[in-house]
Amino acid sequence: MKTCPNCNAEIEDSFEICWNCNYSLTENKIIDFIDEQAVNKKDINCLRCDVKLLYSGNYHFHEGTRYGLLGNLFELFVNKESFDIYVCPKCGKVEFYVP
Ligand SMILES: [Zn+2]
Ligand SMILES: [Zn+2]
Repeated sequence: MKTCPNCNAEIEDSFEICWNCNYSLTENKIIDFIDEQAVNKKDINCLRCDVKLLYSGNYHFHEGTRYGLLGNLFELFVNKESFDIYVCPKCGKVEFYVP
């Protein structure tokens, strides 16, 4: 266990960012994730329907994940740890974005 120098929360040794205050132990400052995500998670419209896509979560890969039927698609993301999934509420089109 490490201790956050900013808020004194206990941090797992494998983490480099404080779960409590977003203080980065590598950059020695608080990283503002929230603003960045708010910008990324809006204003994506379906190209066909011109309807705003709904953010439906972040999909994380784990070692040994079997890609199954969607293998060809997921191979595109093989070097990424995770990606965001957006769904069009009108036509059901699914879009993937790398965070
Ligand atoms: Zn902290
Ligand atoms: Zn659509």
